[in-house]
Amino acid sequence: MKIKFILPALTEAKSPYWRPIKYSLFPPLGLATLAAYTNDTDECWIEDEHVMEVNLNDDPDMVIIQVYITNAFRAYEIADHYRSRGVFVCLGGLHVSSLPEEAAPHADVIFIGPGEETFPQFLKDYAKNQHQKKYFSAKRTLTGVPPIRRDLIQRKLYLVPNSIVVTRGCPHHCTFCYKDAFFEGGKGFYVQEVDDALAEIDRLPGKHLYFLDDHLLGHTRFARALFDGMKGMGRLFQSAATIDSILRGDLIEKAAEAGLRSLFVGFETLSPENLIQSNKRQNLKRDYTEAINRLHSLGIMINGSFVFGLDHDDPDVFKRTVDWSVQHGITTATFHILTPYPGTALFKQMESQDRILHRQWDLYDTREVVYKTKGLSARQLKEGYDWSYKSFYSWSNIAKASLQHDQLKHQVKHFTYAGGWKKFETLWNFMIKSRRLNNMRPLLEAILSKVRTSDHRSVELTQSVEGQLS
Ligand code: SF4
Repeated sequence: MKIKFILPALTEAKSPYWRPIKYSLFPPLGLATLAAYTNDTDECWIEDEHVMEVNLNDDPDMVIIQVYITNAFRAYEIADHYRSRGVFVCLGGLHVSSLPEEAAPHADVIFIGPGEETFPQFLKDYAKNQHQKKYFSAKRTLTGVPPIRRDLIQRKLYLVPNSIVVTRGCPHHCTFCYKDAFFEGGKGFYVQEVDDALAEIDRLPGKHLYFLDDHLLGHTRFARALFDGMKGMGRLFQSAATIDSILRGDLIEKAAEAGLRSLFVGFETLSPENLIQSNKRQNLKRDYTEAINRLHSLGIMINGSFVFGLDHDDPDVFKRTVDWSVQHGITTATFHILTPYPGTALFKQMESQDRILHRQWDLYDTREVVYKTKGLSARQLKEGYDWSYKSFYSWSNIAKASLQHDQLKHQVKHFTYAGGWKKFETLWNFMIKSRRLNNMRPLLEAILSKVRTSDHRSVELTQSVEGQLS
């Protein structure tokens, strides 16, 4: 059987905000994971519209499409196209799980929730011509999951082909997060066997890894064993974790020893009232500064996530947040306009208060205001959000934030990483177009490499970065 896996691009691919590099970071790991359940005799391939044209004139027997909110309309378009040609179409992913009734008319089969159990079951049913219209994931485990079909991934098209996920979900329940909607009706947080995770890491070439887990430190026992196993593997990696997990015990030190060099941290807001509104209790009464200092002392760079537009925000929130981030030496910041994703507690709450403005999912991209605001107008919110990005990534603020670190080596790392990420769009676009993104990996590894405490070593890092750039 010929099975084609498709990750459609967001409609914003045509918008002025489109940053090709942002969407050329990670390969479609979820699709490569599902492909591992097919038969040896099946011919499988993946087309990721973020980095290539999708060929709509081919003749697969089956098409599997991953749908998330901003690509939903494009996904339905592709699904309808293939169905009109008599191709069997399956839809799954976050958006399908949130709104199965919307997705179902575009598919022969839909998958609700994670696919590790339902997809192989569907393949068995399909072979007997006894498949159902809808598969709901009730039993959830990562035990016995076959190795990801990384051979289907064109590594050279991505900056971070070594992305990996060793857990599913998150133990927390923030009201704006997609997570509870996706995992509804079953376990919302579970982990891989440590040995399986280590074996998957071992299969990845090179040094750099990016754990795409929502919260890599969420399961303490698992994370400790994972980091113990990774010690001495010579890896350097990036990941995400919560404030409370950074402050608890010595897990973050273990992560640093195993190679953690940069961490995505959901600060989200500096207001306790907003934290309560978002049910982000893991941040409440936590000392953000202490967590930041701890990460910096371990040489871990911080990508801070912030949400604007929560009900207790006022028009000063943007300046307050940017100033705070710069003063605290946050390396990169990801700002979001609050977005009520369907299926979340936030969406239900706003819908009951008649605050949802429309259901144009392609605008639910955290850059647009899609709900009735409080405390500041929709215009203030949008303009403040745009200003925050511009201000945080001005050269002067990048320099100021870099100088918050005591040591030259950290200042160099910070400056190069933040500047490189936001200020060299033309270079990134050239590397993407010429399909040489993989040539940038040694530079990324040099910036993320561990630096020892002597100034001599910081000079080495500077020279290494300069060498890669020249
Ligand atoms: S901590 Fe992060 S991943 Fe977990 S529920 Fe909150 S926003 Fe979602």
